[in-house]
Amino acid sequence: MKITQQLPDLPYDKKSLEPIITEETFDYHYGKHHAAYVNNLNTLIKDTPLVDVTVQEIIQYGFQHNDTLLFNNAAQHWNHSFFWHCLSPDEGKKPHGEIKKLIERDFETFEKFKEQFSTSAIKLFGAGWTWLVQNQEGKLEILSLKDAQTPIIENKTPILTLDVWEHAYYIDYRNARPKFVESFWEIVNWSFANQNLK
Ligand code: FE
Repeated sequence: MKITQQLPDLPYDKKSLEPIITEETFDYHYGKHHAAYVNNLNTLIKDTPLVDVTVQEIIQYGFQHNDTLLFNNAAQHWNHSFFWHCLSPDEGKKPHGEIKKLIERDFETFEKFKEQFSTSAIKLFGAGWTWLVQNQEGKLEILSLKDAQTPIIENKTPILTLDVWEHAYYIDYRNARPKFVESFWEIVNWSFANQNLK
């Protein structure tokens, strides 16, 4: 998917994922947190050659040059832009198509995959993201990465992600991250996962 240096539109109405994710959460998570990463990024790259490169290239640049502030803001912008598309009010609760086949190939059953992904997301200490990625051989892997870390710098293809920063769930679930993770499975956009496969 194409991620520009601007705050993208949400692919659905802010109310459409209620009660799993409320409009109030979107007002903060998208309208304040994600918007702040975009604003910070634009301030950091203003009047530099980075205004003309892709967000992915800015992430690589920040990583290679140990520019943590640039890396964090660019990666958080990319991760959130990707994350909004991982959710949908219109999908079933089960994977379908190619992603279903690959999950069954690499994790035996959807239930086993779901349990591994959920456990990884619940156990991730502090802030971060749990990812379903495809490695260079095409095999699916679950990765939990801290803070703004993103699989795109590891040459892994992101297929799905779940934001487990507290700002993702505190309004709707308070401290109950496991409940948020469980609810995520009701609104996964499996069509988007299919589009991301190599
Ligand atoms: Fe977030």
